[in-house]
Amino acid sequence: MVQYSSETEIAAAIDALVAVPTLLIALDFDGTLAPEVDDPLDARALPEAQEQLVRMLELADTRVALISGRALDSLEHVAHLPSHVLFGGSHGLEYRLDEGDSVLPMSAENTAALERLDALLHELADSAEGSWVELKPAGRALHLRMMTLEDAERLHAEAVARVAAEIPGLTTRFGKNIVEFAIHDSHKGDAIDRLREYVGADAIFFAGDDTTDEDAIAVLGENDLGVRVGDAPSAARLRVAGTREIAALLMVLADRRAAVVSARTN
Ligand SMILES: [Mg+2]
Repeated sequence: MVQYSSETEIAAAIDALVAVPTLLIALDFDGTLAPEVDDPLDARALPEAQEQLVRMLELADTRVALISGRALDSLEHVAHLPSHVLFGGSHGLEYRLDEGDSVLPMSAENTAALERLDALLHELADSAEGSWVELKPAGRALHLRMMTLEDAERLHAEAVARVAAEIPGLTTRFGKNIVEFAIHDSHKGDAIDRLREYVGADAIFFAGDDTTDEDAIAVLGENDLGVRVGDAPSAARLRVAGTREIAALLMVLADRRAAVVSARTN
């Protein structure tokens, strides 16, 4: 059975993290801050977690970022955070920084591949009750959450096989109840690297609940702290059970970072 980190382990790891001059606090959204829901646009962070994010957004030398597979607009819709939050959207493909948005340019070949992908996934979704296709800036996601496990597994396998055969060269990402195909091979580790540099962070906190979050956890260094939500295999230093535990952890993080920042300015 998987072991969750104890309160003592969490407090010790956070104490070792927060003393740096500049700290970046980066979080996955769905399944980490927000409980899973059927319609992605209805997802909201737990109020206890939201409160701690807002607190940390006000701290000096401390930046807060959301790193998600969602497109920027979708992330903004669900986040409800002040404008100085940073976003890494579409698995590290696009960013909302203080200067505004940056997205990768698309070639004519990319656009044609996306059109073929769109048609193929809609054909599959139309044939399977409960599945639907989400439009992403550089790809499409096939959602399987409303299906029975057996039907979801069958559709998942068919989508992966047909996309590989008919539109080769796309990047495939496997998540919970979702499979995504994209024309760029960016991942959440790219988002961590980009935001580390942008913020000038001396250390990073990151928490996530899905396979794609392991790419972010993999690029963390020894001064950073990674947290995995749930019981799947992970390289993260800490592990907690769910969104409630993340909210509790964020309260400790906000308290300890606030103490460090206020001791420095007084
Ligand atoms: Mg997630």
